[in-house]
Amino acid sequence: MPLPARAEVVVVGAGLAGLSAATRLAAAGRDVHLVEAADHPGGRLSTQRIDGFTVDRGFQVLNTGYPRAADLDLAALDLGWFWTGAVVRVDGRPHRVVDPRQHPSTLPGTVRAPVGNLLQEAALGLFSARAGYLPVDRLLAAPERSAEEALRRARVGEVAIERFLRPFLSGVLLEAELTTSSRYLDLLWRSFVRGRIGLPARGMQSVGEQLADRLPAHARHLGTEVIAVTGTTVRTAAGETRADAVVVATDPGTASRLLPSVSASAPRQVTTHLHVLPASPWEAPLIVLGTPGGRLVNSVVVSDAQPAYSPDGRALVASSTLAPTTEAQVREEVARAQGVATGDLAHLTSVTVTGAQPAVQPPLQLRRPVDLGEGLFVCGDHRDTPSIQGAMASGARAARAVLHRLTGSVPSGGQRA
Ligand SMILES: Cc1cc2nc3c(=O)[nH]c(=O)nc-3n(C[C@H](O)[C@H](O)[C@H](O)COP(=O)(O)OP(=O)(O)OC[C@H]3O[C@@H](n4cnc5c(N)ncnc54)[C@H](O)[C@@H]3O)c2cc1C
Repeated sequence: MPLPARAEVVVVGAGLAGLSAATRLAAAGRDVHLVEAADHPGGRLSTQRIDGFTVDRGFQVLNTGYPRAADLDLAALDLGWFWTGAVVRVDGRPHRVVDPRQHPSTLPGTVRAPVGNLLQEAALGLFSARAGYLPVDRLLAAPERSAEEALRRARVGEVAIERFLRPFLSGVLLEAELTTSSRYLDLLWRSFVRGRIGLPARGMQSVGEQLADRLPAHARHLGTEVIAVTGTTVRTAAGETRADAVVVATDPGTASRLLPSVSASAPRQVTTHLHVLPASPWEAPLIVLGTPGGRLVNSVVVSDAQPAYSPDGRALVASSTLAPTTEAQVREEVARAQGVATGDLAHLTSVTVTGAQPAVQPPLQLRRPVDLGEGLFVCGDHRDTPSIQGAMASGARAARAVLHRLTGSVPSGGQRA
């Protein structure tokens, strides 16, 4: 659908930030048009079908502990769940570390897992309770450090950091040094404590598709790259659209090209290898963590959490490394992590995502300005936190700012991000 010559608002980019902004503006009765360079909505949440398997572009999950998950119809996404926790391998043996609130019968095994003594495990429990239940304002008022220093100060112990927390967090933060802001660690850990993590039956892209379906067909313009913007114009190869407000909701790199006043922090990258096994080696849907000195940060039978990812009951395994790797470089390590023979693994595909997430070094800059003035707005995970939550929260803030510009007030239905 071509862009009209005139629109009230144009949103550039149909990732979760742009979708959040556009759906809120449409719900407020505004004439909003959403322009996306790719041929699907969802941005970095992207899914392919390969040989009948549902393959997300990199291992990613939806965390229902995110405040903005409330904007989604979670039931319609038909989520399949992981257990909160992980499998830690020590000297080749697997040990489960599981949140006992969800699965009380796992408590004895978790207490016995070789990730520290009882005092240190209690310290991790305390760290979790603090992140999960203190008011956010108090978490954000705490002194800011690196994530690693915060964990050391919480006295969770060296063994827990090296065997459990570093590999677990590396897979989420996409950095192994844990230099990320402790305030972001608190917010992230809070979402794990308060929610569950799952995969939608039709893949992570369906999260974006669900939001896109809330817009009228004439307002969605896929396969259309925006070349330049001002607060009153959007230029594509097909011509120019005039607008009262323009929201740039692209990835951080493109945002800083289109908007020279916006700077992007260094992007994190991840490489994910997909393998098929004849059957899952596990009884429970848990992430298997990489071991110290290895290349893998994690290796996950995604079809254990979401059986719809496999067409026929075979197991789909996603294994990720922070540095780019070839399949041959990780094959043996994947087999060890899963406790199978290398010959059991059939390689399906591999993907490296170079701009997976912007880095969040201290100081954490939550709620960066979204109103750039003169009708120009910006949103995206680089404005809040590098996550589904951050993208959606920034989109909600941008929508409120646009409504404020257009009407001078925000309707009472406007929600807090
Ligand atoms: C492998 C991987 C794993 C992840 N795991 C998780 C996870 O488990 N949990 C979590 O919360 N987050 C995770 N994230 C991060 C999360 O996906 C992102 O933070 C979030 O999706 C960013 O959304 P966004 O809308 O800000 O940006 P994007 O999703 O990048 O959307 C920007 C959109 O703008 C479009 N665009 C760019 N340039 C133009 C242009 N010139 N014209 C028109 N359109 C343009 C792009 O095509 C894209 O669709 C992961 C990311 C990756 C890559």
